[in-house]
This record gives sequence, C-alpha cells and structure tokens, in this order.
Amino acid sequence: MSSLFTRIIQGQIPGEFVLRGELWVAILDINPSAPGHCLLIPVAEAQHLHELPAATLAGLGPALARLTAAVRRATGCPALNVVVNDGPAAGQEVPHAHLHVIPRFPDDGRRAGLFGGKRAEAAALAEMGARLRAALAEP
Ligand code: AMP
Repeated sequence: MSSLFTRIIQGQIPGEFVLRGELWVAILDINPSAPGHCLLIPVAEAQHLHELPAATLAGLGPALARLTAAVRRATGCPALNVVVNDGPAAGQEVPHAHLHVIPRFPDDGRRAGLFGGKRAEAAALAEMGARLRAALAEP
C-alpha cells in the first residue's frame, strides 16, 4: 500500500501544496508547530533519506533552499528549524522520508533544539571520528 504522503501527492488525500516539482513537493503540516510549518517530501517513496534515488537527493538542496526562502518571506520569520526524523526511533511517524521546515521567532518558547549534549572526551571524539571516516570510506 502506498504511503500517506504518496496518496497526498497522487491526490487521493487532500494536501495544502506550496511547491510541486518532479522530484520534491512541499505541503503544509496538518499539525503545525508554528504557522507556515511545511513538509518537504520526495515524490519517490523510501523511508530513509539514504534510500532515495540519486537524482532525488541531488534535487534536495535546491528544493530546500527555495522552500526555506519562501517560508521566510511568507511568515517573516528570521530563523527556521529544518528537521528530519529519519526512522521511528528518531520520532518518524510517517514512513516516507520528509523534512520539516519550521519557522522560528526570538522568544517563541519552543525548545532551541534536540541537542542538549555534554562536552565529549577527546578520546571519544577521536574514536567516533575514526569510525565515521571508515564508514564513509566503504563503497
Ligand atoms: P514525522 O513524525 O517526522 O513522521 O512527521 C509526520 C508529520 O506529518 C507530522 O508532523 C504530522 O502532523 C504530519 N501529517 C500527518 N498527516 C498529515 C496530512 N494528512 N497532511 C499534512 N501533514 C500530515
């Protein structure tokens, strides 16, 4: 069965489209975190970003830049969060990859981010850096 977002893209379920391209579309989130909260959705259906076709991934940068510029202009927001919940453990509810574009204002009361990290040990950074470089070197 097609994903919820594929059904919206195909017109079987209503969606408030703000951008329609061959590779990417954007709709307004039905439960917005702030007015203007958009979802940038690939037409190709895959759960995770890294599973998307190369052409779709190549089109992501331009589509995202276009959408974030439009959201800034339309809402007057001076800042945005771009968030990807890339898998259920990260909070993904709809198993069709998408990016949230959320307008932000000074003192809007939203949490600044998900990244309440503590200072890492130098050895831990070095070890993780080595693991990531090795993973990137894999074909
Ligand atoms: P995620 O948790 O990253 O999978 O986010 C899924 C998002 O899809 C949520 O923010 C929902 O509010 C949004 N959503 C669910 N159904 C619809 C719909 N029919 N139209 C627009 N947005 C939707």
